Amino acid sequence: MNLFTETNLSPDILKAIGELGYESPTEIQKQTIPFILSDIRDLIALAQTGTGKTAAFSLPILDMIDDTSRKIQLLVLCPTRELCLQITKDIKNYSKYMKDIKTTAVYGGSSIMDQIRSLKDKPQIIVGTPGRVIDLINRKALDFSAIHWLVLDEADEMLSMGFKDELETILSETPETKQTFLFSATMSKEVERISKNYLTKPHRISVGSINEVKKNIKHEYYVIGYRQKKEALKRLIDSNPNQYSIIFCRTRMETQEVADFLMQNGYAADALHGDLSQAQRDTVMKKFRLKNIDILVATDVAARGLDVNSLTHVIHYSLPDDPEVFVHRSGRTGRAGKDGISIALIKPEESRKLKQIKSVTKIEMSEGKIPTGEDIIKAQVGGVFESLFEIHEDFFEFDDSLIPDLSAFTKEELAHKLLQFQLKDLAMYYKDRHDLVDQKLSSRDDDGGSRRDRRDRDRDRGRDRERGERSERSGKPRRRNEDMVRFFFNLGKKDQLKKLDVLDIINKATAGKSKKRAEIGDIEILEKFSFFEVEKSFKDNVLSNIGSMKFKGKEMRAEVAN
Ligand code: AMP
Repeated sequence: MNLFTETNLSPDILKAIGELGYESPTEIQKQTIPFILSDIRDLIALAQTGTGKTAAFSLPILDMIDDTSRKIQLLVLCPTRELCLQITKDIKNYSKYMKDIKTTAVYGGSSIMDQIRSLKDKPQIIVGTPGRVIDLINRKALDFSAIHWLVLDEADEMLSMGFKDELETILSETPETKQTFLFSATMSKEVERISKNYLTKPHRISVGSINEVKKNIKHEYYVIGYRQKKEALKRLIDSNPNQYSIIFCRTRMETQEVADFLMQNGYAADALHGDLSQAQRDTVMKKFRLKNIDILVATDVAARGLDVNSLTHVIHYSLPDDPEVFVHRSGRTGRAGKDGISIALIKPEESRKLKQIKSVTKIEMSEGKIPTGEDIIKAQVGGVFESLFEIHEDFFEFDDSLIPDLSAFTKEELAHKLLQFQLKDLAMYYKDRHDLVDQKLSSRDDDGGSRRDRRDRDRDRGRDRERGERSERSGKPRRRNEDMVRFFFNLGKKDQLKKLDVLDIINKATAGKSKKRAEIGDIEILEKFSFFEVEKSFKDNVLSNIGSMKFKGKEMRAEVAN
């Protein structure tokens, strides 16, 4: 099946996808479309975002859906509001010529009454986040009696975000006769367990392993100390012109600092992190999607909801603790068949972390040299011509008579003048600057080891701490922030708890009616238990909510640390 016309999809669907420019099915579509059209078994598909999986399940379902019935026939569950809106938009595009088909998105953080009103339209397709779907079930606003297909999209993300109970409730509230399709980037134990309990003899499809999918991504790393990191970042951006990229940072403070630095230096950049309100985050994401800004500086958690497919670069300004997060971040570039570049800035003390990422992910990474001013100007010349060749339309009208006589110049002289004009500011900036000194990875351990590293981290987080309290682990004096409460948490490494999980748990426990997000401080994950810090005013939320949540089926308990 090399063309959509060979799929037997209806002319209305073929017309819609033709207008979207889809010519031939992607790998997952080749495997999934004929299966869904002809088989009644459940399905587990291992595939990442960017492989075309939304069309893979929705095109065949749209082909079979009964447009004379006004009952819900397809329910798609996904982890975030942004993905929910993206899937809804895609399905609406695919069903553009199916005038009786209605699709409604239901997600948290938006008026439930408005969503209940839109359900009165009697859509046949619902796309929702698990929490909001449960709320609507409890309000008896959803009738699932006629559900024929249930799609769990990004099942691993939904489970790692703590939606296990919600998923189990929804799976058991929907008719047994339904066909369930589970899509996931990874086959975690939890995903395996859910599949075992709720899917019947599923057919399995896998579209390449994580590393195969990543073959079109080139990985580079640069060794640079904390003090020169921002300057190195600037040089790497300048030497990769015309980029559309996400820069990942570890903390909100660092994210804002890097974004401020780039904006002050004239880049079209902005920050995305949890200290912003939902409305502010929506605005930043919209600007980025519309390419009003071409560099987004983000924390891992805040970037989760953002789904863009044409990133040219991913820059790891700070390395994550978890190699899987590194793969996930990098996989945001090189999507939909395009090439991508992943660039990591690595401090000399981080050799162990780098080694671990390389050995766990099997990614081949090459060490680069921070570009000199001369390298940058050379790269920019290429970029200027690339942009020139991309202009195929007239943006405004003007009369040729306005152009003076240029016959005295050769075309090379004109090109020179154009480059001087275009690159003048950059050339002036780098003219008197020293090249950054090459640094080597040190053999010293990095995990909280070096004093410089600790100082950097404190500085990154902008903590205003005093020395005093003793660290449980090292016995060394630790700094204290009076605005934070330190909690003891009953889960640790043995429970496969990662920092991202703790961030998610705290965010969920402190999400309230007010848009304000709790500031999160140190997170220290030990073998059997952990510690974390949360802004004082959220103390009661943490104490009262965490006890009723579960992580991978385990009870959670948090109490104020001594
Ligand atoms: P998804 O994995 O569903 O997020 O899709 C990734 C991107 O690929 C989306 O922007 C889709 O619009 C696009 N896409 C999906 N299928 C095709 C196709 N067969 N040809 C071209 N683009 C596609």
